[in-house]
Amino acid sequence: MKESPALIEKDGVTFFLYPRWEKEGLVGHGFSTRLGGLSRGVFASLNLGLKGGDSPEIVGKNRQRFLGIWGKGEKDLYYGEQVHGKEVFLVDRLFLSKGTREIPGTDAVITSERQVLLGAFSADCLLVFFLDPGAPAIGVAHAGWRGTFSGILPGVVEAMNKSFGSEPGSLEVLMAPSIGPCCYEVGEDVMDIAAASHWGREAVFYPGIRPGHRFLDLQKTNSNILCKVGVRPFNIITNEFCTCCRPDLFYSYRGAKRGATGSHMGIIFLR
Ligand SMILES: [Zn+2]
Repeated sequence: MKESPALIEKDGVTFFLYPRWEKEGLVGHGFSTRLGGLSRGVFASLNLGLKGGDSPEIVGKNRQRFLGIWGKGEKDLYYGEQVHGKEVFLVDRLFLSKGTREIPGTDAVITSERQVLLGAFSADCLLVFFLDPGAPAIGVAHAGWRGTFSGILPGVVEAMNKSFGSEPGSLEVLMAPSIGPCCYEVGEDVMDIAAASHWGREAVFYPGIRPGHRFLDLQKTNSNILCKVGVRPFNIITNEFCTCCRPDLFYSYRGAKRGATGSHMGIIFLR
């Protein structure tokens, strides 16, 4: 039976981890909730993102609090700009020497370098962690509907194969809490792009409430897409949390009616 991600508290911060990865000890990883930080108002409290308009100084302190759980800091962190695209970036030794930490035009980052902290941000979008325990190598990707139907996750599988020789059948994939199908009603624009994409048959929609709308299941859709490119179903760990249904635990862009809200962060590194 599949084990679910667990909610734990450490140093006053509440976050998710996948107990099996934690036990095996090959990687450090986690996905934050909104609990345990210093931000106020709509950003309360552990806002880790700068795009919503929160104070950079407070976000910096929150990041220190979250990353400090693993003895890490912002100086160790590499992440994509996140443009809802399909670009995957390899953080290799040469790149590490350059000192850039935010990688423009990128929604996924991969590495085989130990102690390099890969991160991604979300407030409803799906964050997906990848581990090839054999290589060993890791990745993290950000996928909303646009990235999903652009093929960001198959892009990671392909890039890990090319860069590290990772076979899709050996990859372990962990999905973080995201907006659930209960709250993710989309219009014809999204359905049209899904149908026209390479992944139209993998898309999982349920009947909508508003005319011309349907509910999109991001986790099931992306699980189907991963299986199509050779990832094994039992190696994909999903969860039942919806970021929009649980404002006590999560930030939600849709829940905030597209107004200002905070961001969660997912991180992973090879020990
Ligand atoms: Zn929901």
